[in-house]
Amino acid sequence: MTQQVRRMAVLGGGITGLSAAFYLMKYAAERGERAEVTVLEASDRLGGRVNTLLRDGFVIERGPDSFLGRKLPMIRLAEELGLTEELTGTNPAAKKTYIARNGVLHPMPQGLTLGIPADIDKFMETGLISDEGKRRALEEMDIPRSSDTSDESVGAFLERRFGREMVTGIFEPLLAGIHAGDLYRLGLQATFPQFKEMEQQYGSLIRGMTENRKTAQINSGAAVPAAGGTLPASVFLTFRGGLSTIVEALAQRLRSEGCDIRLGARVVSLAKASGIDGKQAVYRLELSDGSTLETDGVISTLPAYAAVDLLQPHMETAALTNIRYVSVANVVLGYDAADFGAELDGSGFLVPRSENRQITASTWTSAKWLHTAPEGKRLIRCYVGRAGDEQGVELPDEELTAAVRRDLQDLMGLSAAPVFVEITRLRHSMPQYPVGHVDAIAALRELLARRLPGVLATGAAFGGVGLPDCVEQGREAAAALIQSVR
Ligand code: FAD
Repeated sequence: MTQQVRRMAVLGGGITGLSAAFYLMKYAAERGERAEVTVLEASDRLGGRVNTLLRDGFVIERGPDSFLGRKLPMIRLAEELGLTEELTGTNPAAKKTYIARNGVLHPMPQGLTLGIPADIDKFMETGLISDEGKRRALEEMDIPRSSDTSDESVGAFLERRFGREMVTGIFEPLLAGIHAGDLYRLGLQATFPQFKEMEQQYGSLIRGMTENRKTAQINSGAAVPAAGGTLPASVFLTFRGGLSTIVEALAQRLRSEGCDIRLGARVVSLAKASGIDGKQAVYRLELSDGSTLETDGVISTLPAYAAVDLLQPHMETAALTNIRYVSVANVVLGYDAADFGAELDGSGFLVPRSENRQITASTWTSAKWLHTAPEGKRLIRCYVGRAGDEQGVELPDEELTAAVRRDLQDLMGLSAAPVFVEITRLRHSMPQYPVGHVDAIAALRELLARRLPGVLATGAAFGGVGLPDCVEQGREAAAALIQSVR
């Protein structure tokens, strides 16, 4: 008897899509089933936002530069691909992070966990917040927990508990930076659900962090126990050859197992080809070149705006159209150490919105990640663009470089001329989860399962933007599809 072949298409060849394809093949093999997996990627390269450039001995990240080690899916995937030896952590000597205030870089107070002061003595020493702002922040311990459990914006929640100055001076640069977002528009439940949980459990975030500092440090990713003694003990991890290492390993493994990976394959529509009245649906995907692909199951890992194009003919998609995307630019500057003239005694700095600078944050890459620059060189990375302030992203290269260099000179006294500048514009790259996102996505997925059984939608727009979240979402979608497609 011939074995039934299950045809499955993964839309998008970013980290979510490649992880989904990997786990589809793995789970099918574990069940003794044959799976025909096709990855359809619109661009001419795999990896999506993950994009490492190796240049003159530098390891330059044009998208993400690392991932949280305490979230295990990425580490597990690296293990499955035999990449554990390639993992590396941050330089323990580059611990300090600065925040700009009135054009001056202040060290971030020690004992802050996700911006919450867990060490009050150290917090009282900071020049980042006025005495009045500190007094107001500490009143947090006496503010009763809210009885309203509905979602709200991160900004509204934190301002209610800590006051406005803490939000603009510390929380906004620290937390909004992760999403290049506006704290007053980002939904708490989808971005920092642990804050609400802590408020409910302890009645105060400061008290929760202080009483349970050990747990709090783990929650903020402050320490990664080396699993089996082989992983670097570091909050953030990456691969020595850059994050594209895992993309290349995934692609190689998938191809060697017979997965069909198609580049330049933009999916433009999704239609039900058959499968009415309870029978297994078959879907027809149309590509921009007019070709079609029939498949029994689909995992879409497309950005929300691209997923909408496919799903809108079949169902309500407001949960996706409500997700705005912010554009950012990544400006990487390489220097000769001999000319550099500035001290890199930390991992970089954050710039609050109120400072009115082009740079929103800067990583002192060669100090934070020792493998990224050759001997005698320095590498600095600057982020430009955030929600409500994206004009800088579209400045011509020369103007953008000049603006970034001006900020570097003002803030850290760096006037040396770089030996090279690499600019990457990541348009519509940062999904902004709105208030109510978690419930809206759950409802959308429920409807999707009814309207288009065997079609799943996941990825950075849905359940977390961090690379481990994306890997886990790809894995979960693969597990669900393998269960559902018969
Ligand atoms: P994507 O990488 O966007 O992949 C989606 C793919 O779908 C793309 O390749 C796209 O070309 C393709 N596509 C689109 N439309 C179609 C179509 N119609 N048909 C076929 N294919 C299509 N996370 C971290 O954990 N650590 C970090 O340090 C970090 N830094 C970041 C810095 C920046 C500047 C950015 C932008 C993000 C950062 N992130 C970071 C977040 C993380 O990089 C992303 O959330 C993650 O890479 C998204 O992966 P994905 O596969 O879900 O989506």
